[in-house]
Amino acid sequence: MTPLLENNIELIEEAARDNGREEGAVVGITKQAQDRGYESLSPAQVRMFELCVRPLIEGVQCPGYTHELEDNPRECHRILDDDRLVELYTIGNALCETCEAQASVDNHSKTSFFKD
Ligand SMILES: [Zn+2]
Repeated sequence: MTPLLENNIELIEEAARDNGREEGAVVGITKQAQDRGYESLSPAQVRMFELCVRPLIEGVQCPGYTHELEDNPRECHRILDDDRLVELYTIGNALCETCEAQASVDNHSKTSFFKD
């Protein structure tokens, strides 16, 4: 699970700040969970992990698809599956299946619009 976050330490730090925890401590716990297993965490560390790190690796919402002519993404509350979560953390963006389909439909209609 946590190898996902290996190249995204700043996300963990941000989550720590958001929750009023010490960045180094939360990053340390994440690394420990990765190296020595979740079971090696103390109850206090588990609480910190659940609070700060769990929301980054589970139940992550689709950021929503942004149409080329619009400024803001369309709201989407679907949850990204594991494969897409990996995409999100490796290439920096990912959409749920539905938004992906919408994006390709829009791309297609743009192409035919310019053809006329
Ligand atoms: Zn979506």
